[in-house]
Amino acid sequence: MSLRSLDRMRRTADEAAGQGLVAIVVAPSPDLVYLTGYDPPPLERPTFLIVRPDRDPVMVVPRLERSLAAASAAGERIELVGWEDGVDPYALAAGLLPPAGRVAAGDRMWATHVLGLQRAAPGLDLEPAGPIVGRIRAIKDEDELAALRRAARAADEAFRRIADEPFLGRREAEVAADLAELLIAHGHARADFTIVASGPNAASPHHQPGDRRIQAKDAVVLDFGGELGGYHSDTTRTLVVGEPPLGFERVYQLVQEAQQAACDAVRPGARAHDVDRAARQPIVDAGYGDAFFHRTGHGIGLEVHEPPWIAAGNQQALETGMTFSVEPGVYLEDKFGVRIEDIVAVTDDGVEHLNRSPRGLLVVD
Ligand code: ZN
Ligand code: ZN
Ligand code: ZN
Repeated sequence: MSLRSLDRMRRTADEAAGQGLVAIVVAPSPDLVYLTGYDPPPLERPTFLIVRPDRDPVMVVPRLERSLAAASAAGERIELVGWEDGVDPYALAAGLLPPAGRVAAGDRMWATHVLGLQRAAPGLDLEPAGPIVGRIRAIKDEDELAALRRAARAADEAFRRIADEPFLGRREAEVAADLAELLIAHGHARADFTIVASGPNAASPHHQPGDRRIQAKDAVVLDFGGELGGYHSDTTRTLVVGEPPLGFERVYQLVQEAQQAACDAVRPGARAHDVDRAARQPIVDAGYGDAFFHRTGHGIGLEVHEPPWIAAGNQQALETGMTFSVEPGVYLEDKFGVRIEDIVAVTDDGVEHLNRSPRGLLVVD
């Protein structure tokens, strides 16, 4: 792990140098976990990992967390600079940075810490680190791919179990609670979200499951995921309770075709924009363009949502090892919604589906 951390920090430093930055500063966040294996909670006392192109990495840590940092995976390989309450940690960090130049700050750094740094080092031009660290994190290594596969399979298994149970008459929130339990029963450390959107609620993509009782002829969108081994799952299936509502089957088929077309467009060198367009085109052609009002997908890894963004206008080229969701949807207000979501990985010759749940229309009791 230490060697991997060093390699990741070296690549980050190289990329920073290539882009003319004098340093990258990262606070407790998935970026810090990625670079060092160290995962403290973000707090008012700042922790700053400072990655510089020409020098070894250094981490500014609150004195009371120093032993924690030292015991972490990369602690022994990173110089630690402890600061005690009463000392100005921003001035301390500024002293480890050049007086002037461009510095990238981690996207998840609290504003209070960014502003503290800026005050202590007025000669620095701060900018977000996402375009650098996000790009590096977007390409998964074999261990990360294996973790994402495990998470996806566990989510698939949870879906298989929930689809075996009756839906009719149950409240959305009950099904959501069951789904969360099933995610954990199948290996997740934590369920992060379990959207259960039934009937007209399914037309709201991020619906919060509530007291509504699921009725006959309801379409039900289930969008759920959690964390397993540090990596995330996120998958969606739409099923129907008994006979489908009017017009549902045509829309379902359309979304399934769009999802398939987008997956078929995934390969190294294709642009994120092209994958989005592949999903969008059939939906637009069928006259439902306005009813598909979100991007086609998002990267997934240490976070549920991370680069690359599979969205219109994103010209970023896909590369082997990228992992992201493909999740087109059509939402018809007061009627129903349909979304199908799988996590896929870009391979040398195309695409690997990490989720394997059947994508055809599933009718349940
Ligand atoms: Zn979403
Ligand atoms: Zn989802
Ligand atoms: Zn998603």
